[in-house]
Amino acid sequence: MGNVGAKDVPVLLSPEGLRIDGRRVDELRPIKIQAGALKHADGSAFVEWGANKVMAAVYGPREVHPRHLQQNTKAVIQCKYNMAAFSVDERKRPGLDRRSQEISKVIAEALESVVFVEEFPRTSIDVYIEVLQANAGTRCAGIVAASVALADAGIPMVDLLPAVAVGKAGGALVLDLKKEEDNFGEADLPMALVPQSGRLVLLQMEGHMTPAELSQALDMGVAGCRQIYERMKAALRERYAVEPAAEGSA
Ligand code: UDP
Repeated sequence: MGNVGAKDVPVLLSPEGLRIDGRRVDELRPIKIQAGALKHADGSAFVEWGANKVMAAVYGPREVHPRHLQQNTKAVIQCKYNMAAFSVDERKRPGLDRRSQEISKVIAEALESVVFVEEFPRTSIDVYIEVLQANAGTRCAGIVAASVALADAGIPMVDLLPAVAVGKAGGALVLDLKKEEDNFGEADLPMALVPQSGRLVLLQMEGHMTPAELSQALDMGVAGCRQIYERMKAALRERYAVEPAAEGSA
């Protein structure tokens, strides 16, 4: 008799050390970042990362709604992370749930640590993150999109905020989990890094790792964030690169 259900669990790591999509353990999924993707927002960015598709739009600094959230000494960052009903294979019930509230909160807190909020007292900086297609790592893709959108809006920041998840799948530490690795793996450790200071401003963990694995996973994630940081800067450069003046033009 076979092991019932065992065939449903995919092999997450081949004997050659390759992952379910052929990546090496320390390899990111392909990532494409477009700064300034929306016409009507003050700043925006679209991120395609593996099979994730995430749009971020930023408004502000502007008047605070609801009024009681206003702070006299700094701007409030209000973040709404939303997963579209059609973003996952099993239709997600639309609207706010505990997961999206939690993700909105941790993203707002992470962004607050890079934005110069003291420069805009009594205002709100509103960040909307819409997940159009999800395949694990959407909070990280959301942070990447949001911080590029903040820069696109011209909001002063200490630094951009690259983010990535490291996990454990098939017994090995792996960078940038995809859906199957997230579902069937042993741990998920999303993080966001302020590259210039080396500070982590978001760190969550699901599952189990030994202290030694955790330390190695953090190193792996920081290295991944640094790669993503380069793509983020390139996206902004591409958006704001000044075209050389055409010959003969004044
Ligand atoms: N997911 C889903 N339905 C849900 C929530 C999540 O199918 O209601 C999937 C989706 O692909 C998501 C993944 O599970 O990206 C992992 O979700 P998690 O809560 O770990 O957040 P994420 O990794 O996206 O930041």
